[in-house]
Amino acid sequence: MSTNQDLFERSQRVIPGGVNSPVRAFRAVGGTPRFIKKGEGAYIIDAEGKRYIDYIGSWGPMILGHGHPAVLEAVLSAAREGFSFGAPTERELELAEEILKLVPSMEQVRLVSSGTEATMSAIRLARGATGRSKFIKFEGCYHGHTDALLVKAGSGLATFGNPTSAGVPAEVAQHTLVLEYNNVAQLEEAFALHGKELACVIIEPIAGNMNFVRASVPFMTKLRELCTQYGALLVFDEVMTGFRVGLGSAQAHYAQLIPGFKPDMSVFGKVIGGGMPLAAFGASREIMAHLAPLGGVYQAGTLSGNPVATACGLATLREIQKPGFFEALSAQTQKLVAGLKAVADANGVPFSVDSQGGMFGFFLMPELPQNYTTVMTTDKERFNRFFHGMLDAGVYLAPALYEAGFVSAAHSDVDIEATLAAARVALR
Ligand SMILES: *Cc1c(COP(=O)(O)O)cnc(C)c1O
Repeated sequence: MSTNQDLFERSQRVIPGGVNSPVRAFRAVGGTPRFIKKGEGAYIIDAEGKRYIDYIGSWGPMILGHGHPAVLEAVLSAAREGFSFGAPTERELELAEEILKLVPSMEQVRLVSSGTEATMSAIRLARGATGRSKFIKFEGCYHGHTDALLVKAGSGLATFGNPTSAGVPAEVAQHTLVLEYNNVAQLEEAFALHGKELACVIIEPIAGNMNFVRASVPFMTKLRELCTQYGALLVFDEVMTGFRVGLGSAQAHYAQLIPGFKPDMSVFGKVIGGGMPLAAFGASREIMAHLAPLGGVYQAGTLSGNPVATACGLATLREIQKPGFFEALSAQTQKLVAGLKAVADANGVPFSVDSQGGMFGFFLMPELPQNYTTVMTTDKERFNRFFHGMLDAGVYLAPALYEAGFVSAAHSDVDIEATLAAARVALR
């Protein structure tokens, strides 16, 4: 039997850093990444046969847990009929109908294969539809690894961003304005300076790539007002929050808090593929008419709307619509975060928690942070010790303090109890 260490050494010879996506390498927390052999419900099992309670769920998609029988059956039967045709199928249209039924802000969607592709295409469409080039993103929000989105703030509001990755020319970052999340004054100033040049503003409504930070209601209200006033499109990146924080996604949550609220465009991924490569972006019929083959904005994909991936996504979306699904998932997630908070309090560890639906975050600080700068003041050493304590006890949390966590419908009371028991030791 190969150990995780054997596999990691072998892997580093043929794959840069031994992984196909950087955060998997455990660089932030140190130690050897676990090579996963299989998943079963709420658990994943590594190459050494050790079982973990899984709070990553493939970074969000596995909302039903691993190997859900109905999803597995749908995937197997779709695979028997063919893997890919490069021609339209009824199943992709069914998935599009299903998504639109649940997200009334969109009239049409285009299916693609990854969240990165979906946000990249959404930005191109926003630029094509408005005839403008510039856009705003917020510090700490991740929208995939497209060049123009790998950008950090420039030296001031009058200047645009700087690339955060080698290989991205400064010219490509020139049209990206990066602002602080939840900062209303900065938003107003940026619109006053550049509002008429903005194609769109892209935002994670509940940011899951800086752990878990909600856009405040005053901030979201102001953002919607300014976009409308200046003719910039408001793009909700719901790749993580979509069908994860609730059946109507984060936009339904904000519509409850802000009467009449809706984004102009939305991007989905993760849960809509149920663990298969699938993502989507959508908007009104008028905006979507700018896309090829109807309009001049080009966008395409050999595997887009893949028959096996759409079968997986459809089966997943059908399960999460069953009565009581989100009530049960939310209750279970709340049980977990309230339990963690109680354990931390009992041990005198500064701790704050938040959750929505099946997504949660915890911080080793007394108050929930409102932006990326505050998130990054977390005591990293302390977080890493907690992470490894939990991992040794068989609880698999995200291996970085700036990542959200996920509970699935397969997580039972016994799993939550076992997690809290591990936390009692680790937090002490
Ligand atoms: C995961 C994620 C993406 C990127 O999706 P990939 O499928 O990894 O390309 C984009 N936006 C958000 C908010 C995400 O969480």
